[in-house]
Amino acid sequence: MDKGRRDFLGISGASLLGLAIGGPVAASSLERPARDADAGPRWAMVIDTNKCREREGCDACSAACHDVHNVPDIPEPRHEVKWIWKESYADTFPTQVHPYTQESVKNRRVPILCNHCDRPPCVRVCPTQATFKAEDGVVTMDMHRCIGCRYCIAACPYGSRSFNWRDPRPFIDEVQGDYPTRSKGVVEKCNFCKERLARGGQPACVEACAAGGHEGAILFGDLNDPESDVSRALREANTIRRKPSLGTAPHIFYIV
Ligand code: SF4
Repeated sequence: MDKGRRDFLGISGASLLGLAIGGPVAASSLERPARDADAGPRWAMVIDTNKCREREGCDACSAACHDVHNVPDIPEPRHEVKWIWKESYADTFPTQVHPYTQESVKNRRVPILCNHCDRPPCVRVCPTQATFKAEDGVVTMDMHRCIGCRYCIAACPYGSRSFNWRDPRPFIDEVQGDYPTRSKGVVEKCNFCKERLARGGQPACVEACAAGGHEGAILFGDLNDPESDVSRALREANTIRRKPSLGTAPHIFYIV
């Protein structure tokens, strides 16, 4: 990498971190947004970690997601591409653990993915608007506009984005025709299965989880519909979000 580009990325990385790691939680992030009956959907997900842990080692959600989206299976960790995967409870919610937290809770495996933040720092820093938030709240990518600057990766405080350091196609077992493959040099991440939502379907991870007999471990639906599965779950259960103090307002909620 030439010096100019290296300096550019270095300086930007530092400033982006400042952007992402903001001050204390904004008051507005604690206010419930008004529900507008005429508004379109605002998609969100609720993950029940208690139900999820009943199936130790289950990876039905990530297997289904990575399969339908042609996510390459690259063995080298530094080149890995991930849309949804599992991390320990302690790493996922570092502010929720204390010296007396049970080991079994700390080690619990929790699915993580892009949070489709209401105030996404990744969108703010993208110089080409390759990543943007749609009206339904889904933070998505236009791969053709991505110039590979990786500002979004630096700005995302959740590590939800992956960069294609190499051509991903040789690492895809069987290319699925429903979603385009990507090329070397672009960023990618979970898109809440926008292509399936457009056809009235559910995200692949939700379907695979339910098909595996795990109904209710991952719920998906419209926050603007008070009768949706997610609205009901948020009313009935106590939920938390990742890194709430950053004010990004994630739309993945966890029952713990
Ligand atoms: Fe952007 Fe990261 Fe939030 Fe997803 S989790 S919307 S990639 S900041």
